[in-house]
Amino acid sequence: MNKKDICSYNYEELQNEMQRIGEKAFRSRQIYEWLHVKLADTFEEMTNLSKGLREKLDFEYEIRQVKMIDHQVSKVDPTEKFLFELSDGNMIESVLMKYNYGNSVCISSQAGCRMGCRFCASTIGGLERNLEPSEMLRQIYHIQKISGERVSNVVVMGTGEPLDNYDNFVKFIHMLSDEHGLHISQRNITASTCGIVPNMRRLAEEGLQITLALSLHGSSQEKRKKLMPVANKYELSEVLKACDYYFANTGRRITFEYSLVKGVNDQPDDIRELTEILKKRNCHLNLIPVNPIKERDFQKPDRKNALEFKNKLEKNGINVTIRRERGSDIDGACGQLRRRHAAADKGEADENICND
Ligand code: SAH
Repeated sequence: MNKKDICSYNYEELQNEMQRIGEKAFRSRQIYEWLHVKLADTFEEMTNLSKGLREKLDFEYEIRQVKMIDHQVSKVDPTEKFLFELSDGNMIESVLMKYNYGNSVCISSQAGCRMGCRFCASTIGGLERNLEPSEMLRQIYHIQKISGERVSNVVVMGTGEPLDNYDNFVKFIHMLSDEHGLHISQRNITASTCGIVPNMRRLAEEGLQITLALSLHGSSQEKRKKLMPVANKYELSEVLKACDYYFANTGRRITFEYSLVKGVNDQPDDIRELTEILKKRNCHLNLIPVNPIKERDFQKPDRKNALEFKNKLEKNGINVTIRRERGSDIDGACGQLRRRHAAADKGEADENICND
């Protein structure tokens, strides 16, 4: 029998489920607390439940494991990278970044990705499968337990496209911010999308307060198409309208992300076009010097050029930052750690994957 994934039930669903197996409401409250506040990994640990109930739960349900396979701690800044194995053998990665305002965790929303962005390592092997809400939550739970410190911010910017796993992603956001669970404020959660227009519009209507980040990467439809296959499906003008709709409905300022690629999207034309797009919007622009991966020939601009690019945009009145590089001595870029493990499994040499 396939056991049911108990950690993916929201508070109400768990109550219904426990009622169905003849348990009282206070029991489901206790179980939810064990799973989502005390972050139990086994039913064994739930010591205020009778042995009989624990066995009953264990018979019908599972606490689906995310098992830590690798843990890299940066020596240059307080950044840690985690590789987790899912119960079916798929690998995903997450990152912990400590800031003076709190601890931020970057999670994966899918095993692999089918969006095909040209510079991204996560997409090279394609999509394996969507992650369940429990598998998104338990990346955070695991890291909070290991670090022994509260996670205050969550970014959904690891492997995968959250809006390509829409229902599980939205449920995950509700459960993460639920007062019966970790109760992380929605304002401290950011999700990044490559621009799946219909689901951006749906998200705008969910009544959530999360920050939406849009991976822009190109300042025109033509340029975007060269870097992001998703642009063949959704025109830049439609994507921008969906961003405006999100802002209008939620009051949350959009963050635009722009991976700077030397000679590709770092030219004076790009500054002009970016200014055109962004100056009339209440938004923030995050420049990310591209992290080279060995499968593609993309280079990051020199530090000086990146700074110049930023300064010119700033002069044009754009609210812009260059994302501070984190964990440059570990497999920092999206999907690199996972790819390195996949390569090692196939017997490829480590140097095949380009680290900065
Ligand atoms: N699918 C989502 C979220 C995952 S990627 C999205 O596309 O937004 C998170 C961010 O990292 C995206 O902006 C993505 O384009 C960027 N990114 C991926 N690989 C990168 C690389 N090698 N260098 C710089 N940025 C990268």
